[in-house]
Amino acid sequence: MENQYKIIHRTATVVDLHNDYMEERINHPQHRLFANSKHHTDLARLKEGGVNVQFFVVWTRPDDYENHFARAIELIDILNDDINECNGEIKLVNNYSDILSTVEKGNIAAVLCLEGGQLVGDNIDNINKLYERGMRYLTLAWNYGTEWCGGANDDENKGLTLFGKQVIDRLNELGVMIDVSHVNKKSLDDVLNYTDKTVIATHSGAYAVNNSKRNLSDEHIKEIARRGGVIGSVFYPYFLNNTDKATIKDVMKHINYIRNLTGNIDCIALGSDFDGIDITPVGLENVSKFPNLTKALFDNGYSTDEITKILGTNALRVFKNICG
Ligand SMILES: [Zn+2]
Repeated sequence: MENQYKIIHRTATVVDLHNDYMEERINHPQHRLFANSKHHTDLARLKEGGVNVQFFVVWTRPDDYENHFARAIELIDILNDDINECNGEIKLVNNYSDILSTVEKGNIAAVLCLEGGQLVGDNIDNINKLYERGMRYLTLAWNYGTEWCGGANDDENKGLTLFGKQVIDRLNELGVMIDVSHVNKKSLDDVLNYTDKTVIATHSGAYAVNNSKRNLSDEHIKEIARRGGVIGSVFYPYFLNNTDKATIKDVMKHINYIRNLTGNIDCIALGSDFDGIDITPVGLENVSKFPNLTKALFDNGYSTDEITKILGTNALRVFKNICG
């Protein structure tokens, strides 16, 4: 008989909010979505892992390019080509009904997202262009932010500027989710003070469990939850326990903590960061391993309904509300 957790996993819509396939793809030109590879992500293992909706990140290292926007467009073209090699088994989508119809057909819905304000440059119109290409969330900063929004490694006094507020306005007008992972504390306060809309943190943990700058304070977790947002549980060992060795138990510590802090699981989602991390927890080595997390949730006493929400329904709720 099939294990209960496997049935839950197979029945659920599994959504991963953060995958850095494109970064690994650029660093290792032989890496392809379509081909079985040595890296974290490919079509065969996405299917094996039961992933139904995959957010694919476009990111550029801040020092590497003069014109990040132009580079982002090149990377989006490459991602589209790679998805097209998958013979329709992965489809780039940009609205909720397309997600549902793609998943119903047994295919994987891919959603484009951009990481780091440098990709916007200093021109609000670039946001419109990225939206047209399918961008459905923007991570406002990377570890080193921009002039208009501080990142986790920036000066702690660096906040959101007037231009940063215009970015927030445009994202809200278009229906693009605002991702605050990587954003420093001051800028995150500024974002939450400036807009009362739902925000998400696609790949972050709880600072109270592990005091990494990339993790969220209790206040920020509670506020994201109060607004109906989600926090994607990140798998990077250094964010989980500040060492290069972690297990699924460490992922569960963050999930359990956030559940206890907020009183429910409505703000918990998945944000693996696969292909953007050089080390992974034992048991979560690549995209085929998501069922092991479902087993851990099941073994920790989470109900079928709660597991289904964490695996995907929570993230889809926010996507539907904001992106339509
Ligand atoms: Zn990141």
